[in-house]
Amino acid sequence: MKILVINSGSSSLKFQVIDSETERVLVRGLCERIGIDGVFTYKTDTGVSLKEQVPMKDHTEAVHKLLDTLVDPEKGIIKDFSEIDVIGHRLVHGGEKFTGSVVITDEVIQAMTECNDLAPLHNPANLVGVDACRKLMPGTLMVGVFDTAFNQTMEPKAFLYGLPYRYYEKYKIRRYGFHGISHKYVSQRAAEFMRQDPRRVKTIVCHLGNGASICAVKYGKVVDNSMGFTPLEGLVMGTRSGDVDPGALEFLAKKENLDIYQIMQILNKESGVLGISKNLSSDFRELKDAEIKYNDKAAMAREIFAYKVAKYVGSYAAAMNGVDNIVFTAGVGENDSDIREEICSYLEFLGIHIDEVKNRERAEAVKISDGLSKVNVLVIRTNEELEIARQAAEIAGRVKGEQAS
Ligand code: AMP
Repeated sequence: MKILVINSGSSSLKFQVIDSETERVLVRGLCERIGIDGVFTYKTDTGVSLKEQVPMKDHTEAVHKLLDTLVDPEKGIIKDFSEIDVIGHRLVHGGEKFTGSVVITDEVIQAMTECNDLAPLHNPANLVGVDACRKLMPGTLMVGVFDTAFNQTMEPKAFLYGLPYRYYEKYKIRRYGFHGISHKYVSQRAAEFMRQDPRRVKTIVCHLGNGASICAVKYGKVVDNSMGFTPLEGLVMGTRSGDVDPGALEFLAKKENLDIYQIMQILNKESGVLGISKNLSSDFRELKDAEIKYNDKAAMAREIFAYKVAKYVGSYAAAMNGVDNIVFTAGVGENDSDIREEICSYLEFLGIHIDEVKNRERAEAVKISDGLSKVNVLVIRTNEELEIARQAAEIAGRVKGEQAS
């Protein structure tokens, strides 16, 4: 099956076409600056590579450009749209309604629209991408893969806040957790790499990118996730604060005469390692370069980040009453061996030993703990697109089976 994977944001649309049998990426690319000026990037596995300025006034025009290129006799990879068996859409927030991937129907769109309040930045942008694909490929099966769905196995003790219960009943205020597509892929890949039965292992996945979250996965099911009602909770991130005492925010609002929207702007865009480093950078590479040049704020930002990760890993080991695998993934987790080493140095009480040479190796998957270590520590490249393609292919297979019977 050929699966078109779409990740639609407010002004961008990432895409890949993946062959589900071989799991080969046939083409990948990006429509950027939609509604502004438009930049189209496209790369096939046969060596076609494009970067063009193309006006794209909205997402429909972006999908149009993408589809035209896919069937182009010279640059394309298919002859006809009918060769695309299914489109898999990354959808951010499925609330409590969606605990797995679904065929996108009018009812699903309606239910997702009802979740827009929960993710006002992401869900409407995702739906615009869905709408554009439905307009241009009305006969093609579409599957929605939610970033919250994998986390839906959390129990009330993990997902309820210490707030009056009526707010959960009335508004569904609770922990949802995010990065579920990545946490699922990475926890399963870790078990496969270690030749373990995923239903028998306890894994902590550290998804450390510009957005960062930690997820405890016990016997294939999520027990806890550091992100909360929104992706703001938990770790210190690139520009997001992570956990902060709400009392400090009231204090700040009064002192600086700020309203709730200004406070949220500070928490989402001006905090994290960017804020701690006095606006030096939200980029961990730049912070590392600055730390080497003795910038103490950059050093402090990285130190706080690592400390917070270690604290969450420790608490999730307690939540699962043990841990077999700790896995690092995403931009920082996959590439920053110094941060990994620093985090693991806090975890020696778990019997963790890191092999310094292995820790500097670069591979799709590598075990960086040594033979003495009581816990496997791994680095695994996340692949959200492949996970979406797998889930879309599974649903498409089921639908085709039902149609045939
Ligand atoms: P992501 O959100 O997963 O794309 O991750 C983005 C983050 O990964 C940025 O802060 C980058 O600085 C960081 N990153 C990417 N490559 C490296 C690297 N080689 N060393 C340290 N950090 C990196």
